Amino acid sequence: MKYLPIFYDLSVRPCLVVGAGEIAARKVRQLRKAEASVTVIAPDICDELQGLVDNKEIQYIAERFSEEILHDKILVIAATNDEEVNRQVSELAKAQNIPVNVVDNPGLCSFIMPSIVDRDPVQIAISTGGASPVLARLLRARLETLIPASYGRLAQLIGKFRQHVRQRYPKMQERRRFWEHILQGPVAEMMYAGQDKAALNALEKTLEEEEPVIDKAGEVYLVGAGPGDPDLLTFRALRLMQQAEVVLYDRLVAPEIVDLCRKDAERIYVGKKRDQHTLPQTEINQLLVDLAKQGKRVLRLKGGDPFIFGRGGEEIDLLSAENIPFQVIPGITAASGCASYAGIPLTHRDYAHTCVFITGHLKDGSMDLNWDTLIQPRQTIAVYMGIVGLEVLCRELIARGMSETMPAALIQQGTTHKQKVYISDLASLPDIPRQHDIQPPTMIIIGEVVKLHENLSWFDPHE
Ligand code: SAH
Repeated sequence: MKYLPIFYDLSVRPCLVVGAGEIAARKVRQLRKAEASVTVIAPDICDELQGLVDNKEIQYIAERFSEEILHDKILVIAATNDEEVNRQVSELAKAQNIPVNVVDNPGLCSFIMPSIVDRDPVQIAISTGGASPVLARLLRARLETLIPASYGRLAQLIGKFRQHVRQRYPKMQERRRFWEHILQGPVAEMMYAGQDKAALNALEKTLEEEEPVIDKAGEVYLVGAGPGDPDLLTFRALRLMQQAEVVLYDRLVAPEIVDLCRKDAERIYVGKKRDQHTLPQTEINQLLVDLAKQGKRVLRLKGGDPFIFGRGGEEIDLLSAENIPFQVIPGITAASGCASYAGIPLTHRDYAHTCVFITGHLKDGSMDLNWDTLIQPRQTIAVYMGIVGLEVLCRELIARGMSETMPAALIQQGTTHKQKVYISDLASLPDIPRQHDIQPPTMIIIGEVVKLHENLSWFDPHE
């Protein structure tokens, strides 16, 4: 079943609750909070609801449910303990296209009620599509601890100033920056600390300042997006992804990660398939400069870590020369992500005391590597971009003295649900891409530590 999440204005509109026990009372409370005009129908009524009737806050009809009562109602909740009645309410309401909810019976519902984190006027509604109310509740508990209780008051404060700020900053982009400045700065902190008056004063003062507080210069965030699993992003990466107005990303960045960027951000795909650069590197470098000069906050999202085989250094070189502010946010590099998710420690007391990261790039059919340092004992080699030159790499290592039986692993699409780990030895490693349909990207790990995979493997992708 698919549901549309919406927030529905029920103010003074006629809603019906069938049943008048404790569960019904809970639903009535929710409807009352939305200022609905509530009618309750049931032969008996609990004390709490009777109290509301006495205060004239709801209407009560002391009868069993019947079809006529649906007349003119715009929403119905069935909360009786009589299954037959619940079913009847559901059928009749559906027949009249009135949205109906039957408590604890998703099959009879045409709408379901979410779990709510309430920071009035901020409301976060959580739904698992009816699959697991417990999961929704646990998620809610987590959000409750994460979101300061004073968020609602902060939202109210902002609400009061919206008009004023709109006049001061007529351009949407400037306005947004102003609010981000307020929401991430001292004003918000004062609200969290319960200093509402000080926050109000500070906000007024900021608005009155001659110079706009927002700085108009753009900036660039060079952000490592990690190897694939969105959970491996850093908090800072996520925060900047939510802030940037333009995003430049390439093929290595998983779509689920690009999706976490601000919804209205402009997204620019800059490609980068092997041998088929959609945009040449120099143009990417220039684009970053141009966009920042237009006053935009630009996010350059890169797979893994920007400073490990990512040409991140080149991209910020030009920014630095042009005096454009930038930040570099590290990401989990593919070697580290793949090793962890394959249960292969890159170093280990008994097997490897050093670890080297290399690229297996071929240049004119050969590899420009310092072979002597590579064949050292007790060392792990992590090979990026190694698939095309795999045969050359293995042949050269063996020719220079590395054992043919040295354990080796090929990890496809590490940390994602498509991860596959192939274990082999150095001599037969090049056979793996011949025998299997290997999907990029792939990481090669060579060294005694690969033996540990058998016992330490823990990640079980579901595809
Ligand atoms: N800056 C990136 C590396 C870019 S080079 C980082 O720090 O990870 C691109 C190479 O990284 C790919 O050819 C592949 O060898 C490796 N790679 C990136 N993501 C990977 C993944 N999820 N699984 C396996 N290898 C990956």
